[in-house]
Amino acid sequence: MIAHVRRLTALAALCSLGAAALTACGGAERGAPAEPTTAVRPTGSPSPSGPPTLAPGPAGLAPVFKNGPRDHGKTVALTFDADMTADQGPRAAGGERFDNPQLIDTLRRLKVPSTVFMTGRWAEEYPDQAKAIGTDPLFEVANHSYSHHAFTSRCYGLPAVAPEKMRADVERAFTAFRKAGITHPAPYFRFPGGCYDRAALRRVAPAGVTAVQWDVVSGDAFATDADAVAQEVLRGVKPGSVVVLHCTRSAAPATERAIRTVVPELRERGYRFVQVSELIGASAGRN
Ligand SMILES: [Zn+2]
Repeated sequence: MIAHVRRLTALAALCSLGAAALTACGGAERGAPAEPTTAVRPTGSPSPSGPPTLAPGPAGLAPVFKNGPRDHGKTVALTFDADMTADQGPRAAGGERFDNPQLIDTLRRLKVPSTVFMTGRWAEEYPDQAKAIGTDPLFEVANHSYSHHAFTSRCYGLPAVAPEKMRADVERAFTAFRKAGITHPAPYFRFPGGCYDRAALRRVAPAGVTAVQWDVVSGDAFATDADAVAQEVLRGVKPGSVVVLHCTRSAAPATERAIRTVVPELRERGYRFVQVSELIGASAGRN
């Protein structure tokens, strides 16, 4: 617990350093702003043609999903945030790698259904990889904003999106996905840094998205000890868990190695890997 707290503190410190450390802040614990508790409100009738979504929250807020049912079998969703902020183009041009093809290869080799929360800027930088991921049924691509800027006024030092531009930032990511050739992104949205409040939920609701948080923090952001990341995941996973990890080599260099430990161990414990949509569907199908 102490180590966990220390890691979060260190991450918050790193994230507050400014532009040089903004990439992986989606791996932080929930952000500082006050967050409403939004209950899972099942629709009971998911869209027949697309991934299931939750019913809107109260007062027109986007619904928030954190984890699947605990009593619906041993399923777990690994989620990978493909972070790149709107102003990191020069760093990518200078050779910094915000992608992680080796991680994607490993997930394929181990046949792990996964959900990738991609920023629109990432899809622009790596259109071939975005398309390859987005057209492979093993992966489900969801929205991590276009800019990876914050949707609350305070979020680990990330620059903030103006409230009136929040919906457009989400929709711009979907546009970038389509341009890259991702034809069916899931209508799920992960707030950069995991930071949201009621105002942000209201602003993104018209984009038709379900906000997706997590219940297991891998701590892979800026981690170099793959075994520590693996142990953190293995310690945290419960039936229905959503684990947050990263698909960004420069800011999460140990993730691929951690996955090679986590996947066989969880299978040994009887877990089945699923995409977030399956957990949402299991939640939406009950009252
Ligand atoms: Zn992120």
